[in-house]
Amino acid sequence: MCIGCGRKQAKSELFRFVRDNEGHVRPDIQQKLGGRGAYLCFNEKCLETAVRRNKFSRAFRRKADDSEAAKAFQCKNTYPQID
Ligand SMILES: [Zn+2]
Repeated sequence: MCIGCGRKQAKSELFRFVRDNEGHVRPDIQQKLGGRGAYLCFNEKCLETAVRRNKFSRAFRRKADDSEAAKAFQCKNTYPQID
């Protein structure tokens, strides 16, 4: 489910973020990293909504750095689409 718009999507339609051991928000490029993830549509609007509503911190259940999430999301155009 996208944390921005709340729509259910196939995983292949979503960008996965993870929060690493140091607390940084990173893109999960291979969609294989462990830990709690947050999913977002490939849509800037969903990112804006998620940030505005503090959804990253909620998804990770800890304070998340929204600017890191926004930065991570910049690689969305080269994000591999995994079926
Ligand atoms: Zn969305």
